[in-house]
Amino acid sequence: AATDGQCTESRRQKTPPSQTQKAQDRLMALAYIGLGSNLSDTVAGQELDSRAQLNLAIDSLSAHPHILVSKRSSFYQTPAIGPGEQPNYINAVAQLDSQLAPLDLLDPLQSIENQQGRVRTVRWGARTLDLDILLYDQLIENSERLTVPHPRMHERGFVLAPLSEIAPDLCLPNGENIQQLLANCSMQGIVKL
Ligand code: ATP
Ligand code: MG
Ligand code: MG
Repeated sequence: AATDGQCTESRRQKTPPSQTQKAQDRLMALAYIGLGSNLSDTVAGQELDSRAQLNLAIDSLSAHPHILVSKRSSFYQTPAIGPGEQPNYINAVAQLDSQLAPLDLLDPLQSIENQQGRVRTVRWGARTLDLDILLYDQLIENSERLTVPHPRMHERGFVLAPLSEIAPDLCLPNGENIQQLLANCSMQGIVKL
């Protein structure tokens, strides 16, 4: 790992695939997904708490024909940051290997959120499941549906702690490394479970 806070080499020596590249030409990409839940939900008649929601989401990702879940972090309990009184969150991060293009990866994430009772009312309101793309290789993208790296990951201990657990040498496309981001971020109230 770089010690001066700058990453000199990307983790994988390859150019990120372009949006327009055809699926069959696509190399396997490495993506990191942030998972969060602070509400239970009833799925197929069974009451699932937040941890069970995240486990089910990881199972659903693993069952997708074009997604391999290659690593998953521990669970972290995190105070809610959204509006009003909300239950604590359970958060985790997963590493995915996939040939799906960035937007084609967002589709199954959003359908898994919907399957698990995600209802969008107020911004940053309580939710049964949130699945965010944190990083997609070294891609930088700002489009209507997708911004990567996730624009708020730098300031979120509940993202950086589980991410550094599974990818301690990770570098962001702007050259920042995960250890430096983690050192500059508040871990107040975050408990590794
Ligand atoms: P935050 O982005 O602060 O974590 P959130 O996860 O609660 O907030 P959502 O309601 O889950 O926000 O998503 C709102 C929209 O964000 C989605 O419709 C999606 O298209 C868009 N979006 C942009 N970038 C990303 C990303 N990197 N991962 C997931 N969704 C994204
Ligand atoms: Mg989110
Ligand atoms: Mg989200």
